[in-house]
Amino acid sequence: MDYQETIFTKIINREIDAKIVYQDDFVTAFYDISPQAKVHILIIPNKFIPTVNHIENEDEQLIGKLFTVARDLAKKEGIDQSGFRLVMNCNKDSGQEVFHIHLHLIGGEKLGKMC
Ligand code: AMP
Repeated sequence: MDYQETIFTKIINREIDAKIVYQDDFVTAFYDISPQAKVHILIIPNKFIPTVNHIENEDEQLIGKLFTVARDLAKKEGIDQSGFRLVMNCNKDSGQEVFHIHLHLIGGEKLGKMC
């Protein structure tokens, strides 16, 4: 499969509107356009990585940063103590729709059991 850069690249480059809540040289985070809970933020690497299968060993620090940004945003949103869920889908059985990896930060209410 040939992966092309997605709408998320345009969000990173601020070519289209999104509610960006965090951005640095490596990571961008913005509110999901179709939230599945009261808080639903997507945290993405600025580097184009289509799926988890495309993560390289040299990306370890970058992938770790997605989690430290998620931790900080959970606190900023006031859901760090009540709890939240972090999800990253990969390929069709998971329902991945946008092929630029993204960590979903979901919370702000009681979430249904997932596993
Ligand atoms: P996934 O199914 O894991 O690939 O999730 C893709 C997510 O991206 C979905 O939750 C969408 O609602 C969200 N999404 C798609 N386009 C946009 C956009 N332009 N701005 C914000 N979120 C988006």
